[in-house]
Amino acid sequence: MTPAKTSVISDRILKMSESATLKMSQMARELRAKGNDVISLSLGEPDFDTPEHIKEAAKQALNDGFTKYTPVPGLPVLREAISKKFKSENDLDYAPSQIVVSNGAKQSIYNLSMALLNEGDEAIVLAPYWVSYYEIIKLGGGTPVIVSAGIEQDFKVTAAQLKAAITPKTKFVLFSSPCNPTGSVYQREELEALANVIAEHENIFIIADEIYEYINFSSKHVSIGALEAAKDRTITVNGFSKGFAMTGWRLGYIGAPQIVASACTKIQGQVTSGATAFGQVAAAAALNGDRSTTSAMRDAYLKRRDLVKVLLDEIPGVKTNNPQGAFYIFPDISSYFGKSDGNMTVNNADDFCEYLLNHAYVAVVSGSAFGADNCFRISYAASDEQLKEAIRRMSDALAKLK
Ligand code: PMP
Ligand code: GLU
Repeated sequence: MTPAKTSVISDRILKMSESATLKMSQMARELRAKGNDVISLSLGEPDFDTPEHIKEAAKQALNDGFTKYTPVPGLPVLREAISKKFKSENDLDYAPSQIVVSNGAKQSIYNLSMALLNEGDEAIVLAPYWVSYYEIIKLGGGTPVIVSAGIEQDFKVTAAQLKAAITPKTKFVLFSSPCNPTGSVYQREELEALANVIAEHENIFIIADEIYEYINFSSKHVSIGALEAAKDRTITVNGFSKGFAMTGWRLGYIGAPQIVASACTKIQGQVTSGATAFGQVAAAAALNGDRSTTSAMRDAYLKRRDLVKVLLDEIPGVKTNNPQGAFYIFPDISSYFGKSDGNMTVNNADDFCEYLLNHAYVAVVSGSAFGADNCFRISYAASDEQLKEAIRRMSDALAKLK
């Protein structure tokens, strides 16, 4: 037989970009496998292991026979724990029937895109945005409408900007806070202003991605869905990957108006079914159990944020904000555009990251993947030693650009 040609692949996938975060971490792995000492600050993944009591709960669940298919939207024990958590921590009213557990928040967002978008609908994405939002909206047949905020406004979109982007085709507004990739946190008044704009349009949903909820340095987390103006039309996305260091468990969830939750369950029932049984039991234990490990991780990220910011601020031409959450910093490095080391000219953020990978052996992700061409993302979920060494190497390599 003749080998298959690219043309057999669907237009949908040919038009799709690969996930830049996953691609960069793979490139770092490959360079490392060739014997290079690469420090990867590219992947947004806690460097901590899952807390012991959660692992123990999974082992116990396996012994107890949680090895079968589960109800598509999740085990009752987990949906109840999530509903309780939403009420007690976020002041959100989602009954267990309004909760859908998925194989990661990534799948939750995919479900929503498939459930809400018709061909030609617009989805407003507040930028800088998490890399996968854009492609997931396109997969759902929607058109992403990007509303951007630069470093000078702490990467936070204003109500006036949002208002100007709304059209009769707008279906939802999607954003994360604490934000990946900027670490910015929308404060209560800022969320209120955004919610007031959306409240004027009765068919627009808010999708609030709160996966970094527990990594917030500035204030107690505020859920936009708890604000009067946003009640009943907010879908809250969350998951276990970040706050509980459970990336490999693949567990995320939404709380949503019943009609939306039921539509997401319908899709999930045809493509993946319910998430892993014993993982769900352990996830319920995570929500119901002691949170001291979650707070200890947050405190460690805060120390690293301070370390990384001080060191980056010493490098000429690197402009930082002071991220209030998550474990990312997103410096503006546009002052390097047009500079060269004699061999390579850095014309944009992609070139900048390629230069750092090849000359400093530090893997980071270009802002272009997040809708911000002047910036690059550092994930500082790494040890102090790695962070210090990575920034020292970056500083040396950047000093050669003239
Ligand atoms: N949303 C944001 C903002 C993220 O950074 C991530 C990171 N993976 C996700 C959603 C998806 O998380 P997961 O699928 O691991 O639950
Ligand atoms: N959310 C993380 C990141 O932004 C993990 C990678 C991914 O899921 O794309 O790096």
